[in-house]
Amino acid sequence: MTSNTFISKIICKQREYFAAGNTSNIEFRVQQLKQLKQLIADSEGRIYKALQLDLHKPMLECFTSEITIINKEIDNAFKYLKCWSSPQKVKVPWQLLPASAIVRPEPLGVTLIISSWNYPLQLVIMPLIGVIVAGNCAVIKPSELAPHTSSLVAEIIANKFNPEYIKVVEGGIETSQNLIAEKFDYIFFTGSASIAKIVMTAAAKHLTPVTLELGGKNPCIIDADIDIKQTIKRLTWGKFLNAGQSCLAPDYLLVNYHIKDDLLEEMRQHLQKAYGNDPQLSPDYARIINKKHFDRLEKLLKAGEIVIGGKINRDDLYIAPTVIDSITWEDDVMQEEIFGPILPIITYTNIFSAIAAINSYTKPLALYLFSRNKTLQKQVIESTTSGGVCLNDTMMHFSLPSLPFGGVGGSGMGKYHGKASFDTFSHYKSIYKNPQWLDIDWRYPPYQGKIAFLKRLLKF
Ligand code: NAD
Repeated sequence: MTSNTFISKIICKQREYFAAGNTSNIEFRVQQLKQLKQLIADSEGRIYKALQLDLHKPMLECFTSEITIINKEIDNAFKYLKCWSSPQKVKVPWQLLPASAIVRPEPLGVTLIISSWNYPLQLVIMPLIGVIVAGNCAVIKPSELAPHTSSLVAEIIANKFNPEYIKVVEGGIETSQNLIAEKFDYIFFTGSASIAKIVMTAAAKHLTPVTLELGGKNPCIIDADIDIKQTIKRLTWGKFLNAGQSCLAPDYLLVNYHIKDDLLEEMRQHLQKAYGNDPQLSPDYARIINKKHFDRLEKLLKAGEIVIGGKINRDDLYIAPTVIDSITWEDDVMQEEIFGPILPIITYTNIFSAIAAINSYTKPLALYLFSRNKTLQKQVIESTTSGGVCLNDTMMHFSLPSLPFGGVGGSGMGKYHGKASFDTFSHYKSIYKNPQWLDIDWRYPPYQGKIAFLKRLLKF
């Protein structure tokens, strides 16, 4: 556990560093981004190793869902940093001329990033890019449940960045509690809804604004009007990537009853092709993070009828890609976010009832729809609420720096990626400038006789 005194000292030093204006210089920000990109490139081999040890993460998944996402975000930041950070002139009504107005983005100060274990590198570095681009300092607390990645991040950041600017504090719950007890200028939290409430309560004591990146039960509707082969490829990839431990993984399927049997058959064949006869032997299939999560997931296998997979091995933290049929809305597996390689299927005959069921849950982080029917696409988008929507694909919306990413309601608050990250870690200061060479008396007392003139001026 990292003590309060140690943490207070770090924050104090970062406050001094920030106040000296070091971080807001645009050239400084560009240099730090370059350094970060180089750091990731230099550490690539060690990153693969750490992620393999923590999650048995296949190298290709590390490359696409951790390293490439980071590199794309940094490149996008290089491109737009100067434009985002320039003050913008805004319109002033003619009645107020010759005044002028600008909006000036400025950094917030010392920020805190607390992160989850499922994409343990990317979920720390992506918000850090926003911190750097917007000109702030950061204290980072990676997840203790991915210890190899956590210590690697701590080491490489310490080697390249001044701790008065960016400092990684490793530790578990108590360290995290000590951190959130402090006053930060912003807290960026990725994790579960229950811990988010604790973080937000602590932040409220200092009136610190927060972003909460949470999860939820992401529905995936499968209409009958689809290309089954392609649908199954995209769906099973998004579900079983990282052994289902993705905040954006499709949580459950709502399948048009006409195609359920064909869909299951195609899924069976595709999973066999993707992971072989025994996915436990596949180098391309990850593991459950720890025994606690394994035991939680094992209990969820008790509902319904397992129609694909179902094999488990606690010593190896292995749960096969599993599909469960004959599920009811009341089953345990339909109560909480699954966050593992278990996919329950519920059929629908009427899309309105499927939409009503989705809307009876907490607002999800993502909603997926597979259908070629444009009317249905529009209907589903317009009658549901979710952090994001992905049509005829899964997860890919996360990869675009141009799409703000985040939840709504129970799946979180605040957005990041690309410009949204810059906005998150910036304060937009409104500045009104009035020159002294003209001053009309309409707003000053005594008011008598001025209202008629004002009504004409303001056109009431
Ligand atoms: P978690 O809430 O248990 O832990 C998140 C972080 O909070 C960790 O760093 C942990 O050390 C810290 N923490 C734990 N208990 C704490 C306490 N009492 N006080 C202060 N800090 C505490 O979540 P997790 O298991 O790491 O992550 C799983 C959840 O995160 C899932 O719900 C998943 O959907 C969500 N998630 C969301 C996103 C997203 O981008 N929206 C990404 C990844 C994961």
